[in-house]
Amino acid sequence: MRHPFFLLTFAMAFAAAGSLPAHAGKAASTVATQTTTQLPRTVRPLHYDVMIAPDAATLRFTGKAGITIEVVQPTSIITLNAVDMAFSSVNLATDQVSWAASKTEINEGKQTASFSFDRQLAKGRYRLTLDYSGKIGTQAAGLFAIDYPTTDGKKRALYTQFESADARRMVPSWDEPAFKATFTLEVAVPNDLMAVSNMPVADRKPLGDGRSLVRFEPTPKMSTYLLFFGLGEFERATAEQDGVELGVVTKKGSIGQAAFILESSKAVLKELNDYFGVKYPLPKLDNVAAPGGSQSFGAMENWGAIFSFEHAILLDPAISSQSDKQRAFGTATHEIAHQWFGNLVTMRWWDDLWLNEGFASWMTDRTVRKLRPEWNTALSGLSRREWAMAQDALETSQPVVRHVETVEQMRPDAITYQKGAAVIGMVEEYVGRKVWADGVRLYMKKYAYGNAVSDDLWTQIEMAARKPVKAIAHDFTLQPGVPLIRVESALCSKGSTTLKLSQGEFSRDHPEKKPLRWRVPVIVQQLGTTPSYRTLVRNGAATITIPGCAPVIVNAGQSGYYRTLYAAGHFSQLAANFTALNPIDQLGLLSDSWSLGMTGLQSPADFLDLAKSTPLSADPKVWGQIAGVFAALDRNYETDPAHRATFRKFAIGRLAPKLAQVGWIAQANEPDTFAILRNELIETLGGLGDAAVIGEARRRAAARAADPAALPGALRRTVLGVVAAHADAAAWDQMHAAALAEKVPLVRDQLFQLLAAAEDPELARKGLALALTGEPGETGGAAMIRRASVLHPDMAVDFALDNLAVVNTKMDNEARSRYIPALARGSLDPAMIAKLNAYAEKYLAPTARREVKASVANISYRIKAARERLPLIDAWLTRNSG
Ligand SMILES: [Zn+2]
Repeated sequence: MRHPFFLLTFAMAFAAAGSLPAHAGKAASTVATQTTTQLPRTVRPLHYDVMIAPDAATLRFTGKAGITIEVVQPTSIITLNAVDMAFSSVNLATDQVSWAASKTEINEGKQTASFSFDRQLAKGRYRLTLDYSGKIGTQAAGLFAIDYPTTDGKKRALYTQFESADARRMVPSWDEPAFKATFTLEVAVPNDLMAVSNMPVADRKPLGDGRSLVRFEPTPKMSTYLLFFGLGEFERATAEQDGVELGVVTKKGSIGQAAFILESSKAVLKELNDYFGVKYPLPKLDNVAAPGGSQSFGAMENWGAIFSFEHAILLDPAISSQSDKQRAFGTATHEIAHQWFGNLVTMRWWDDLWLNEGFASWMTDRTVRKLRPEWNTALSGLSRREWAMAQDALETSQPVVRHVETVEQMRPDAITYQKGAAVIGMVEEYVGRKVWADGVRLYMKKYAYGNAVSDDLWTQIEMAARKPVKAIAHDFTLQPGVPLIRVESALCSKGSTTLKLSQGEFSRDHPEKKPLRWRVPVIVQQLGTTPSYRTLVRNGAATITIPGCAPVIVNAGQSGYYRTLYAAGHFSQLAANFTALNPIDQLGLLSDSWSLGMTGLQSPADFLDLAKSTPLSADPKVWGQIAGVFAALDRNYETDPAHRATFRKFAIGRLAPKLAQVGWIAQANEPDTFAILRNELIETLGGLGDAAVIGEARRRAAARAADPAALPGALRRTVLGVVAAHADAAAWDQMHAAALAEKVPLVRDQLFQLLAAAEDPELARKGLALALTGEPGETGGAAMIRRASVLHPDMAVDFALDNLAVVNTKMDNEARSRYIPALARGSLDPAMIAKLNAYAEKYLAPTARREVKASVANISYRIKAARERLPLIDAWLTRNSG
């Protein structure tokens, strides 16, 4: 499904890791053997002919659907999904006869329409014809409108977003992934606008009233959630790859900003055609960029017509950074990977959503690593695992595969995406890359144009691997939680080292819980050597003997989804040789020691010792990680300004020399990793209150009017972010005027978000008030409140709760239940817990409270960590200052 924008900003990843705790003891969930459905299975669709006539001005549309169906069990009632629709005519026909429905019944709660006929329908094929009308929304669900400013006045474009269950807002349909069918879409649209759908245009006929009837070629057999329609003053650019027409579609005037994505998509399509062994089957693949945003997602993989918000894929040298570029490449790759995993082979029901998302996330990492080695993303990929583990080590965590009875109960999260990807990476490493690819090809071939469940994948992998995989896969996908591998001893004798390993569980909030059991593939390596050795920890223990007597790294290469806890002496040996470790294992050691240090399984001094001794020459990703942890730790000092000052002095003392080395302005031919680190360091040092960085940011922001080179595009957002965070009233007013005058939606949205970014509570309040006016646009307000919550979580939550009815109109339905808990995440106030619980009780169905529970668990953990762990850090700082 979609690319989640709610995951992972740089600072957020570490904030989560530094915050809290662990999971529940429910054992392997049972997975339904029958396809779950919310519709009667008496009828199934085979083909939809859909005609839509939108009226963008009134936000209404009329539609006509001719659906070829098969009655598989005799019935007199046909029930399908429909939301916010009125039916004016319902007819059923065979080749010989037709009948009007005797009754149409709408069930709003179930989102269905039932059509009764005064006869029993025998098994066989029929044609169901529906005339209806519906609504165009202002948030990304169903058919929706986005308004945006231009130098030429305000414009409106239309797009669709159907996953998970919003196709039913535009097409009366069997809106579940297993009801695959083909679709022929026709639209009646103004002559001067461009219409885009999954397939190329087959025919365009003038209607004589200023509109044309545009018909698209029929789609392959697919799930409803992948249908797409877009309409507006668009431009399109194309390229060719492997016989497929690749396209980018933007609003008029922005097509140049899509050049990078078009070029990148060529390489990605070629790579994936090769990898999957099944060629991309449609004649074209567009990526349609839209202004605005959503609190649920950044991009969506509609078959043949990927939808992306502009902020996710468009690049402009005047405003985009190296991390924007990498994110755009990653987002496009994720959606292209879905063209196979998701579109060609679809999960049977939402229980297995991770098959789409974990796989697309893993495939993105793999493809970017391969096509863009200079980005060194193998190292940044580790933050995925960290993000997943932070959630997975809380009692509120859920397994990767989780049964849901209704689509509304589905709550995709970091476990679905990031743990899913991490588990795939671990199993791939376990069976070998080639074997894994062979298994994936078998799976693609077998289930093409069909549906599958998780075990279908594991079966094919086992066939390719000729060894058991399912048991390991089940341990990691059917139960929640993070294994903890303890290195009990490492004894050298006669030139060999014998390691004794035991398996516990890494829990952040329930360290005393009885550990679950996993079969854990473990890779070990001796420091300074290349060969690695493998063992499988089962029944809680393993022993392995390897040649040599150097210190041993466990989880070498970091493909394992577990934490490693070394005995104290062993850890000191590794720490003493930190710079001799491969950078990926340096990151692993930093991550483990930081997380274990904050939960009390290790001393937090261990991480700080590493951070203190890391040389300037260490890999930029290692410095990025240290900066991220410092930023997170700083938030934990929110309520203790005195100790915070001591901590900041230490943190700035470490990071400032690295920034001095990297410099503010890119050197010719510097590695891309430097460009990313530069922004991370400026952001972090600004957040830590470093006067030199704040001063320099202000100087450059002010100088850019006269000298654009003072603030290159690659630094723009970061530097303006520092200035905005430390703004006074006059600076805030100046930014406000600039935001209002800005006509480029992408830049305008950024500027409005900065208006909510001030440290000064009075200015943050002004930003919040602005969020609900018309100024930031229909989708910009929720993003502003979100931005304010970074420094003022409690204020942002209070504001959103006070204005909940309006705030809810600023986002799509799916985003609502996770929005308030996301705002609260950074709080250290015990009162927030009661506030969140009261909110859930009052507004959310019991099945929609997962994010609230997770947020409460996170806040409780951070409060506990601040109370119990910060004094140890303070003691270390006292020992190590001066
Ligand atoms: Zn996705």
